[in-house]
Amino acid sequence: MSENERLFERAKRVLPGGVNSPVRAFKSVGGSPRFIANSDGCRITDVDGASYIDYVSSWGPMILGHNHSVIREAVERAVGNGLSYGAPCAAEVELAELMTELVPGLEMVRMTSSGTEAVMSVLRVARYATGRDKVIKFEGCYHGHSDAMLVKAGSGALTFGVADSGGVSGEVAAFTLTASYNDLDSVSDLLDANPGQVAAVIVEPVAANMGVVPPRGGFLSGLRELCSKHGTLLIFDEVITGFRLSVGGASEFYGVRPDLFAFGKIIGGGMPVGAFGGSAELMSYVAPLGAVYQAGTLSGNPVAMAAGLAQLRYLNEHREVYAQIDGYAAGLASGLTEIANGKATVNRVGSLLTVFFTARNVDSYSAAKSSDTDSYGKFFHSMLNRGIYLPPSQFEAWFVGAAHGDSELDATLSAASSYFDGESPK
Ligand SMILES: *Cc1c(COP(=O)(O)O)cnc(C)c1O
Repeated sequence: MSENERLFERAKRVLPGGVNSPVRAFKSVGGSPRFIANSDGCRITDVDGASYIDYVSSWGPMILGHNHSVIREAVERAVGNGLSYGAPCAAEVELAELMTELVPGLEMVRMTSSGTEAVMSVLRVARYATGRDKVIKFEGCYHGHSDAMLVKAGSGALTFGVADSGGVSGEVAAFTLTASYNDLDSVSDLLDANPGQVAAVIVEPVAANMGVVPPRGGFLSGLRELCSKHGTLLIFDEVITGFRLSVGGASEFYGVRPDLFAFGKIIGGGMPVGAFGGSAELMSYVAPLGAVYQAGTLSGNPVAMAAGLAQLRYLNEHREVYAQIDGYAAGLASGLTEIANGKATVNRVGSLLTVFFTARNVDSYSAAKSSDTDSYGKFFHSMLNRGIYLPPSQFEAWFVGAAHGDSELDATLSAASSYFDGESPK
């Protein structure tokens, strides 16, 4: 038995499904997860010594590649001063200053320890600021695992949301309404049917948790108009897109300004960090200034802040990274499109991409769901066997980072060719 298999057997006895986050479990592609022993650049190495070109990138944070010396050294320096104080430190101020400098419309932030917490708390601010209870989210968008966000559409288009997880009460779910991504009419219908009751519309500006689905032209600006018209706050969940699509995130990339933001992933540089923010006025409602309670023992942790600050500073000072990772992803997407030859559709925005196993144009959740997940599972394992680590689910993004280079692009495309050539009866 391999060390991976041995660890997985042990893990299953003490961790549900053998993992601490479900998508790692390979449940939707079959097989056993790889336990990673170490990582460097764009490669991860498992406990049996197999090395892979990594397109998961810890689901986004490792935009500069694994084990980047600038971040590692910043962490090592911070560790030398102790791990946590439960009192403020300078790095929290510096990271908040840099974030507010880079993101248009972001004036104040509160640090959290995860994206889930950031979303949960920003919704609380929106409810308090508007005095309204309902929120609109989009089917297939993911905003972390707080109760209010684990909701799917009810039976009719305009009915209440229903829980999308065991243990979420129907009463809580009923306050979350679900619309269709890239469909402005579905949003305006919900706003009209719930007049003066919707506190916020929350959206991933680029849907990246149904696989990557770009916003249609006019979708984000249309949301902005609808929200302004209805006195509803617009929240961009930039946990993936923030500091990835550009140094100012998706709001800068698309030129649409939300009222509130949630961040995570990249801003921690690989450490557990989230943040939410917006105008100084809206953020003045957050305790201790205002009535919206929000707290965290390890929020603004000095080691985590040091990692995030080092990564954001590096990105800010090396903006050529964006052209580089976008260029790599563009080459990968066009190469894969050609190789798939109609058997799959490749969506890409910036350094995010997904290969959907469908011939359809994927511009909606329903189109994404038309993908053949069995074929994705076969593709995944074929790539894994050739040393390419892809997301173990059809409905996740591939994340390109600054450590991916020409030889990795060639290796990835050649592995994909082997799969698709083997598939096609010529
Ligand atoms: C990952 C993610 C979250 C949740 O962040 P965690 O740090 O995993 O809690 C929220 N929103 C989006 C868009 C995400 O991709």
